[in-house]
Amino acid sequence: MHMRPDGIIIAIDGPAGAGKSTIARMLAERLGYIQIDTGAMYRAATFLLAREGIDLGDSTAVEHFCRNIDIRFESVSGRQVVRANGMDVTDQIRTPEMSLLTSRTSALKPVREALLKSQQQMGRKGGVVLEGRDIGTVVFPDAEMKFYLSASVEERARRRCEELTLKGEPVTLAETIADVAERDRQDSERDIAPLRQADDAILIDSSRLSIDEVLTRMAALCRTKIRTMELTQ
Ligand code: C5P
Repeated sequence: MHMRPDGIIIAIDGPAGAGKSTIARMLAERLGYIQIDTGAMYRAATFLLAREGIDLGDSTAVEHFCRNIDIRFESVSGRQVVRANGMDVTDQIRTPEMSLLTSRTSALKPVREALLKSQQQMGRKGGVVLEGRDIGTVVFPDAEMKFYLSASVEERARRRCEELTLKGEPVTLAETIADVAERDRQDSERDIAPLRQADDAILIDSSRLSIDEVLTRMAALCRTKIRTMELTQ
């Protein structure tokens, strides 16, 4: 297997709240790679669809609208900013309502097709950590390193609840467990690119592991892979 120009592709998939974003960001920092949060792209597309009041049941309207969406990441004073058609939507896309709505829009074919293309474009040169639900199965089935990061529903909801409470969003644990379980259901039962562990992905259950333990394990596996590939060039 040949090395891509900028390094390997690292895919991290898994359900909501498993710690993918934190781990992807830290892993990318350690390796000097770029992080691509594909969930943020689905959230940003959802924000635009909702803002324009597009009827999600009207597939022609959704398809037409998706042809003209432009989502990109920018780094502004060390902070990652998500831009959707030029607007900074970084904070607005993180509400619980937006999470649930995104789970619905991400089941739509035109939405997935539009974002799939831009994700493949962003990642094809390698040197990237992509996180999402279908990276190892659909976006880059040939990724050199694949992880499936999971944790129990209760633990994932507890983390999400803590995160939202810190941001001043009043949510209860019971509500969050219900939301997380509903998202798991929608994401894994949809017809196109459902949430699924790729056959060749390494499963990591983070329920009883600290962020540091997960990161150390994953970084070691990635470094070994990169070294092996460099030696066999
Ligand atoms: O990862 P995050 O929770 O931000 O993702 C929000 C939603 O976007 C998920 O619940 C899922 O419906 C959708 N998504 C997806 N495919 C991806 C990444 C996210 O369908 N690769």
